[in-house]
Amino acid sequence: MALIVEKFGGSSVANIDRINAVADTVIRTRNAGNQIVVVVSAMEGETNRLLELAAQIDASGSRREVDVLLATGEQVTIALLCLALHGKGCDAISFTGSQVKILTDDVHGKARVQHVDEERIREQLENGRVVVVAGFQGIDDTGAITTLGRGGSDTTAVALAAALEAYECRIYSDVDGVFTADPRIVPNARMLDEVTWEEMLELASLGAKVLQLRAVEFAVKFQVPLRVLSSFHNVRGTLISFEEKSMEQPIISGIAYNINEAKITIREVPDRPGIASKVFGSLSDENINVDMIIQNISANNNTDLTFTVERSDFDKSMQVVADVVQQIGAKDFVGASNIAKVSVVGIGMRSHTGIATTMFRTLANEGINIQMISTSEIKISVIVDDKYVELGVRALHKAFGLDAEDEPVEEREP
Ligand code: ADP
Ligand code: ASP
Ligand code: MG
Repeated sequence: MALIVEKFGGSSVANIDRINAVADTVIRTRNAGNQIVVVVSAMEGETNRLLELAAQIDASGSRREVDVLLATGEQVTIALLCLALHGKGCDAISFTGSQVKILTDDVHGKARVQHVDEERIREQLENGRVVVVAGFQGIDDTGAITTLGRGGSDTTAVALAAALEAYECRIYSDVDGVFTADPRIVPNARMLDEVTWEEMLELASLGAKVLQLRAVEFAVKFQVPLRVLSSFHNVRGTLISFEEKSMEQPIISGIAYNINEAKITIREVPDRPGIASKVFGSLSDENINVDMIIQNISANNNTDLTFTVERSDFDKSMQVVADVVQQIGAKDFVGASNIAKVSVVGIGMRSHTGIATTMFRTLANEGINIQMISTSEIKISVIVDDKYVELGVRALHKAFGLDAEDEPVEEREP
């Protein structure tokens, strides 16, 4: 008997029909002789609706209370799914994050999972029940409810799979698997049968929201077999592979984009030790993640410092920077939130040259100006004006030979 964790995202539980369909999928996996832990997200649109309600009262309100509010979304779904399972004759029990005891740190809104108490779940599985757990939520050591950041149900699922040493963690979504680019903006993107964990880490961190980055990090750390598949079509999906990639694989696996970033430049920063530590230390004290950083010599032997942050942290970052600019005696600072990051990812970059040239030429041919560049061993990212994001992604997808003819998808074995 194998233990399988199945996670269903917002679109998969969007209404009662969909919840009934999820119950059928779960029962099918169970009838194949498996023990099942199900993780569900809030119904599609619910987390946004709750956030809007909070914003109507106070946009910068207590993050602790916002988490109490957001956690209700997933609590509704676990109850509805259990009712659906019961209605179909399947014994099932629901748990919130705090009932399981998914222990996190106390960073409300982006808490990190520190420990999962799997005793209670095991007990119920042994009693022959399907266990349905609310995704996206945990509890800190003071007993406060926390949430794991947008898309965090993926991380709940992988964390449970790791703690329970599951045979496989299946992430069901509204796409058939991981594609060479977001199929919403590149209609002829191709589904990948397999993607290496290194590429998946890059794709997730660069904006391919099909998997939350922390979920991939967890899967890598604990070697959790992870598959992305559709709750709408019966397809095999994409396996996140821990094997070495074979020689025939394409050089570039995918194009990713992220429109949730903003850029800040501090101008004419005094060029002396300790400045970067002061600037980025102040941001990290506020739990603001900084992504790209560029430092350049500017006028009067000073430097210009440009960096990007998540767009949701932009206002707070501008406030932090306003203080820091005073303290370090920089000239001034400017911010822009109308930017996007476009990236090409592929493990083949390690052994092939000319990828950057192709990328820059392709963007130039479309008249797209590059504002910042950053590279790693297997990715190249550029910052561009966000109005060019779709054009840029489609042009790069074509330039790297990723466009597909319409191919029939392979049906999963019954
Ligand atoms: P869920 O609600 O099931 O968690 P998400 O909306 O978080 O689903 O993630 C699925 C979405 O991810 C897809 O609808 C798709 O638009 C987007 N996406 C972005 N990049 C990719 C990619 N490379 N492959 C597949 N989907 C992608
Ligand atoms: N409901 C949360 C969100 O919308 C978590 C998730 O869906 O994974 O981000
Ligand atoms: Mg998601």
